[in-house]
Amino acid sequence: MTTTSLTGQVLHPTDAGYDEARSVWNAMVDRRPALIVRCGTVTDVVNAIRHAREHDLEIGVRCGGHSVLGLAVPAGGLMIDLTPMGGVTVDPRTRRARVQGGALLGALDRAAQRHGLATTAGNVSHTGVGGLTLGGGMGWLARRFGLSCDNVVSFEVVTADGALVTASRTEHPELFWGLRGGGGNFGIVTSFEFQLHEIGTRALLASYLFDPADGVAVLEGWRELNAVAPREATYFASIGADGVDVGFVWVGDPERGRRLTRDLAGLGRTRRETVREMSYLDLQTIDDAVDGHHFRRYWKGLYLDRLPAEAAAALVERGDGAEALRPTMSLQAYGGAIQDVPEDEAAYGQRGTLFELVAAARWDDPAEDADRMAAARSAVAPLTAYSSGMYLNTLSDEGAAGVRRAFPPAKLARLAALKRSYDPANVFHLNQNIAPA
Ligand SMILES: Cc1cc2nc3c(=O)[nH]c(=O)nc-3n(C[C@H](O)[C@H](O)[C@H](O)COP(=O)(O)OP(=O)(O)OC[C@H]3O[C@@H](n4cnc5c(N)ncnc54)[C@H](O)[C@@H]3O)c2cc1C
Repeated sequence: MTTTSLTGQVLHPTDAGYDEARSVWNAMVDRRPALIVRCGTVTDVVNAIRHAREHDLEIGVRCGGHSVLGLAVPAGGLMIDLTPMGGVTVDPRTRRARVQGGALLGALDRAAQRHGLATTAGNVSHTGVGGLTLGGGMGWLARRFGLSCDNVVSFEVVTADGALVTASRTEHPELFWGLRGGGGNFGIVTSFEFQLHEIGTRALLASYLFDPADGVAVLEGWRELNAVAPREATYFASIGADGVDVGFVWVGDPERGRRLTRDLAGLGRTRRETVREMSYLDLQTIDDAVDGHHFRRYWKGLYLDRLPAEAAAALVERGDGAEALRPTMSLQAYGGAIQDVPEDEAAYGQRGTLFELVAAARWDDPAEDADRMAAARSAVAPLTAYSSGMYLNTLSDEGAAGVRRAFPPAKLARLAALKRSYDPANVFHLNQNIAPA
């Protein structure tokens, strides 16, 4: 048997830096790979895949490490750590960015904003471009410019047999289709080429906290304001122990955004009002601390296609767990340019979504694990009646049933056929897996 030598920085369990490299965002994830290969080049990635296959080691692929299940970390397997490949270069003339496969969102935002440019990226800057884009990629610019995956012009990918291919509209077009929403199933992306947009550098955040007793009426009013909102505005809501917080983020001239605030403030008696102008870069890091590392985490996500009063009541209720254990329920509005993209254009499967819901639990004490997870499940259960599906990137422990809810059946069948072409042995299976058909 041939043996491919590993290149890059190879970490064994006894090496300094091993524990740091295997830690990911969710502190519940405590798995020990046999080897971690910190890849700095495409060749390192190719060699790592070949070596893992020759030695029958399961492969985990790490970019930002934000998969809630910690899918990047294989127990006893080989973890391909892309974080040394974190570079971003921007060409302001063509408005394109080249982003290495291990880059974090913050690196992309910073490099693009030097030129007043940006593309859709998520809301927390330490999330990976890799996982986020491959599963879709929702952010404050999506209602204007589509999801992150809609803004990819080409991918450079190492496939399961170690070949380096470019996927674009003209090269490997079916792979290009599948990588835009089908997750990490088809290969390891070593470089993304993104279309950027001129957005300036300014943003506005407006949020109003209301008493939970007024929560249903407030959410219904907020839903109606969202229905007529310009694309620069992305409405959000966050329902937690301190009340019902509704608002919007505006990217662009803050003065225009301010015009929307009066209607929101008028939804009821506010307990707290926040209207803040800030730079786009500050907006993109504002949740970095609250969504920081080292906590135990559990998420349950759903896509909602309507929000009647009964659903609003369930959101305000937040399940039947003890109050201190109930999750925070967050909603973010979709629509706009996300829906302009034809359904068949990319693998991403849920363009008709009205709101994305995430029930998020965060705690420290392992003794609370079971109760926290049960409370989050009970908070989301009554809302499934209003759900059109699920977002691949916020699936947690739903398994194959969750993947089936992320795609319409015909799309899932097309993805399974693509998987058969590019990864028939299911080498890349530590992900929200699409089995080869
Ligand atoms: C705090 C936080 C905030 C978030 N905010 C948003 C948001 O605003 N919008 C949104 O859409 N989502 C958001 N998400 C969800 C996020 O998109 C997913 O958790 C995503 O999987 C994270 O990607 P990652 O690269 O950080 O994670 P990782 O755990 O490193 O990777 C997850 C999976 O993606 C695949 N993968 C990653 N990189 C590559 C690559 N280069 N090539 C091939 N496969 C790869 C692998 O299968 C891997 O298992 C958020 C998650 C968290 C924890």
